Amino acid sequence: MQSFATAKDAALSLRPDAPVYCFRPAVLTADAKAFVSAFPGKTAYAVKTNGEPMVLETLAKAGISIFDVASPGEFAAVRAAKSDAEMLYMHPVKAQSDIRLALETYRIRTLSLDHEDEVAKILRVVRALDIDPATVTLFIRIQTKGHAAYELSKKFGAAPAHAVELLQRCHRVGFKVGICFHVGSQIEDPDTYERALASTDWVRNRADVPLAGLDVGGGFPAEYGADPRRKQRDMPKSSEIMARLTADLEEWGFGDLPLVAEPGRVIVARAFSLIVRVLLRKGRRLYINDGIWASLSDSWTGKITLPARFIPDPARINRSGNAAKIGAFKVCGATCDSVDILSRPFWLPETVDTGDWIEIGHIGAYSLSLRTRFNGFYPDTFVEVTTPFHEGEAAEGYASLETMAD
Ligand SMILES: *Cc1c(COP(=O)(O)O)cnc(C)c1O
Repeated sequence: MQSFATAKDAALSLRPDAPVYCFRPAVLTADAKAFVSAFPGKTAYAVKTNGEPMVLETLAKAGISIFDVASPGEFAAVRAAKSDAEMLYMHPVKAQSDIRLALETYRIRTLSLDHEDEVAKILRVVRALDIDPATVTLFIRIQTKGHAAYELSKKFGAAPAHAVELLQRCHRVGFKVGICFHVGSQIEDPDTYERALASTDWVRNRADVPLAGLDVGGGFPAEYGADPRRKQRDMPKSSEIMARLTADLEEWGFGDLPLVAEPGRVIVARAFSLIVRVLLRKGRRLYINDGIWASLSDSWTGKITLPARFIPDPARINRSGNAAKIGAFKVCGATCDSVDILSRPFWLPETVDTGDWIEIGHIGAYSLSLRTRFNGFYPDTFVEVTTPFHEGEAAEGYASLETMAD
């Protein structure tokens, strides 16, 4: 991989027409280590956030040895990056054949579930393979109500009374049992984990079975950009959330239990930026070479403010507008689909024009892991960048939270 000091250097040297992902392994290493040292338990990286081999390998070198996986593709990616990594198969609803693959081929011994039919599936495989249930840990996923930017608890999780039954049933069969939850991604309310811990406490007390662990899932917020025109929302910092969670774990009496967290976004968000090119400016519209079918779907749902840096093409001599003034531009994506228009504007210097580049910062989470081959576009160019995004020149632009009229 080619290496550059900054994304601007990469853009001006490569003059790329296709999107370029700028990977910052030192940032990834630092953010992973920061999480590991702050969390009072084991850290399992959530592979779905960004499962690129370069990410998994860098994390393995940084000391991450446990990975939260959900599919055969993720088992294989983790195995390839670190052959002795431990995997936690934390998808509550699994295909029987995938359970078998996990237990037999990948020797995975930790799984999650939220329904008795899933217990039956797992038990069938355990018996067929003659595995001792006492070597398998089943985490019962409980429902949580939270305030995350991305709510995920609507889909999975057993109601508390149901979770009690599941714990008792799995314990009776001879499995080791634990409790897990996942509050959603990019949580905004520091009380979120405490509410989940209160439910966990209720379930634990009613179930009255020995617990092998508590898995608090992901959701830890990454730091993104700021919209200078808005009053800062009181977005809690990850360190504050962690301090609260640590105190709450003690307070609710979970301090002595083996703990696991499954962070994704907070570890990988800042490790990548993305260079996109303006293929055409049409009035207040910018047609760029990426979009919702590639790297910009999840990041564009209006929940986070992404910082952006303007990289003017020096080959363009004539420009109109005031470079010191920023204005809102509607961004149209690369595909021919009219849905492929970003819901929120980019604020950029008024002089932005056809041929210029934009570096979008902190785009490592849920971006390239969601890209598709729709319409024949598939961004897949990577460079290494050594300067952290937040340490370069100030980012003059950003994608705001507001939508924009036509
Ligand atoms: C997606 C997911 C995570 C990671 O969430 P982040 O908000 O990116 O930290 C962790 N655990 C489970 C079960 C998930 O589905």
